[in-house]
Amino acid sequence: MIRTRIAPSPTGFLHLGTARTALYSWAFARHHGGQFVLRIEDTDVARSTQDSVEQIIAAMKWLGLDYDEGPIYQMQRLERYQAVVDQMIASGHAYRCYTTPEELEAMKAAQEARGEKRRYDGTWRPEPGKVLPPAPAQVKPVVRFRNPVDGDVSWNDFVKGPITVNNREIDDLIILRADGVPTYNFAVVVDDWDMKITHVFRGDEHVNNTPWQINIYEALGAPCPTFGHMPIILGDDGLKLSKRRGAVSVTAYEENGYLPEAMLNYLSRLGWSHGDDELFSREQLVSWFDGTHLNKSPAQWDPAKLEWVNSHYMKQADDARLAELVAGQLAKHGIEADKARLPAMCALYKDRCPTTVALADWLSMYFAPVSPSAEDLAQHVTDAIKPALATLAGKLDAIEWTKAAISLAIKETIAAHGIKMPQLAIPVRVLVCGRTQTPSVDAALELFDKKSVIERLRKA
Ligand code: GLU
Repeated sequence: MIRTRIAPSPTGFLHLGTARTALYSWAFARHHGGQFVLRIEDTDVARSTQDSVEQIIAAMKWLGLDYDEGPIYQMQRLERYQAVVDQMIASGHAYRCYTTPEELEAMKAAQEARGEKRRYDGTWRPEPGKVLPPAPAQVKPVVRFRNPVDGDVSWNDFVKGPITVNNREIDDLIILRADGVPTYNFAVVVDDWDMKITHVFRGDEHVNNTPWQINIYEALGAPCPTFGHMPIILGDDGLKLSKRRGAVSVTAYEENGYLPEAMLNYLSRLGWSHGDDELFSREQLVSWFDGTHLNKSPAQWDPAKLEWVNSHYMKQADDARLAELVAGQLAKHGIEADKARLPAMCALYKDRCPTTVALADWLSMYFAPVSPSAEDLAQHVTDAIKPALATLAGKLDAIEWTKAAISLAIKETIAAHGIKMPQLAIPVRVLVCGRTQTPSVDAALELFDKKSVIERLRKA
């Protein structure tokens, strides 16, 4: 049974990189008919918040990444970690270390001054025949893993390929802090073991942690999962994607009017490919995603491509669904939309809008006053055309409000004044819609109520 997990630390929103890892873990599990687990790695007590947990869960839900187990909180498993630590101390795989943080810092500074690598020097590490100093009563010890000193740690990373690290490169890691809270590298092993995780997808930044984790698995006699480390996502400037240079949270994209199916499609292509396919459904992703064709090199975030993908899904989206989303976007600007009229409006405008924010921007003219620019007014609503606008207002006032009747009124006005279509249509758009371009003017006008069209025309 394939089991994967995503294990975010709840110290902020769901980052795009974590979302992509979650997506791959989820798709891989679904592809194999396996299970996907959500684990909250909240051992950084000072920085973890419930608010962040909720944001992460909401973002996963929005993306449709359903999990079979969880959320499992590490801070609710302290007894389990303690039990494993006790067992490791008893078997000689771990030991109590009384070196204080100050002593450790002094030790490392001295090593640095001697041109050596900064590392724990093994003062409290038990060795056959070694006599340890007496334990200082006033110091609460940490527990360290007794890392093997010889040999190599190797694994075949399913993204990066074979990796080997010599044990001399790594020191004895703290696995339990003095306050009884485990460190990441230890808790992650106990959890992945207990949760029977078979495949670990995670970010590149954890490659250096993996040798310790493999050694701990070995010490525990536990089966080691298969690891794959995803390269980072670069911003469009080639630097690491970061908050300072644009939105990096899934939630921000939801707020900015992106559709979850577009986000899922775009994120999955960012670091993985299936031939030349760019647009595909969730079902296709699941049927294709077998953990191969993952890129070794960093992917670059491309806002223009994401917008293109989103435009595609906007066109396909159901109008009633878009109407709900647009109503939400309009409400953020204090505009209350008539929900009964919104679906028809979405149908007319969704083809030209990359996001629901852009769609709401268009549709606001139907529910809130428009303010045409002085430039458009001067250029298009000229004195010469005002008589024709007055004629049109009069005719529209008299008709039954249908697209055909509006179209006829416009044609009659053009004929009566001996002008061409754009000479009338553009000033009508400027006055009624606040801009010079819209879909066909009769279709755009039909979606207004008659009264506001006439009022806006008579402002000329
Ligand atoms: N809490 C870790 C992180 O958010 C999890 C890493 C892992 O997947 O092992 O980076």
